[in-house]
Amino acid sequence: MSYVYDDQNIFARILRGEIPNKTVLETGHSLAFEDIAPQAPHHVLVIPKGRYVNYDHFALEATEAEIVDFTRTIGAVCKMLGVQPSRDGQGYRLISNCGAHGVQEVPHLHVHILGGRVLGRMLQPA
Ligand code: AMP
Repeated sequence: MSYVYDDQNIFARILRGEIPNKTVLETGHSLAFEDIAPQAPHHVLVIPKGRYVNYDHFALEATEAEIVDFTRTIGAVCKMLGVQPSRDGQGYRLISNCGAHGVQEVPHLHVHILGGRVLGRMLQPA
């Protein structure tokens, strides 16, 4: 199958500098910025700069350099937020919503990093 990427999605526009964002960290292949509608005291989105629709697209087709950079950026943001359980942080949750059942709103891969409070159970009843 092939993935269809919408160049007008809001994160593509952020990457092109057309709309502002509150950047937390920028690397060669990735950008981390604050979610505009935070669901927890810490709510950061991490996106690759490449044109990937969702996580499976990225996992199957991204270069190794992009995958390493994206993964390390997630780690670096967790470190910056001070949420690492192994370093006296109180933990966090990673979420990547994909497609209709995942209720993905923005069709550019993003991982949510949420923390700063107890987040409750993983899923609410449908
Ligand atoms: P989802 O696609 O459902 O995983 O979530 C998309 C997320 O993007 C939501 O949490 C929105 O609050 C967030 N969002 C949408 N527009 C912006 C923006 N311009 N800057 C930062 N976050 C945004």
